[in-house]
Amino acid sequence: MTQADNPTKGTRGKLVVISGPSGVGKSTITKAVIERLPDALLSISMTTRLQAPGEQDGREYWFVSRDEFRRRIKDGLFLEHAEVFGNLYGTPRDKTEEALEAGRTVILEIDVQGGRQVKVIYPQAVMIFILPPSTEALADRIGRRGRESGEVVARRLRGAQSEIAAASKCYENQVVNDDLERAIDEVIRIIESAPDA
Ligand code: 5GP
Repeated sequence: MTQADNPTKGTRGKLVVISGPSGVGKSTITKAVIERLPDALLSISMTTRLQAPGEQDGREYWFVSRDEFRRRIKDGLFLEHAEVFGNLYGTPRDKTEEALEAGRTVILEIDVQGGRQVKVIYPQAVMIFILPPSTEALADRIGRRGRESGEVVARRLRGAQSEIAAASKCYENQVVNDDLERAIDEVIRIIESAPDA
């Protein structure tokens, strides 16, 4: 149905939150979903963490200093923000609002602390949590990425377990990433079947 067919239908886009423990494959799923949904847009977060090799400012994240980040918190420029693994991450408010106003589907790939904040501001947000097929599979994937020391891996695993526990309360959609293509299809179906904001 088009806007002309139904003048009472809102034109605002859908806000989608995708969260999940690190190593669960949420970035891969999110990227595929963005490619397949023509009006969808991935929000670029701001972070104080160090830029990793191969990352580009404004592509993976906007990289800023802690002082700059704090100033932006004070000025109310974030839709949500949280400290994750000792670094600050936040979703720029203006870009998200503009895209929603323009009718785009906006996807936030953020942690559960941020997800909870978003759900309070936008109760109609579509909340999707990506789950590993098992704890063993998750430990294996986090360890295999090989980017970090054993201690960091253990910390990420503990973080993952508490994220999973917290998620069951606030995310109405949970998708198990047992098969990548199936998980991508399920996320797309959830987004498409959610009512317009
Ligand atoms: P990484 O540093 O590995 O890219 O991300 C670490 C964690 O921060 C991931 O769980 C990711 O989802 C989360 N994250 C990334 N951007 C944001 C954001 O804007 N807000 C919140 N709350 N979490 C974020």
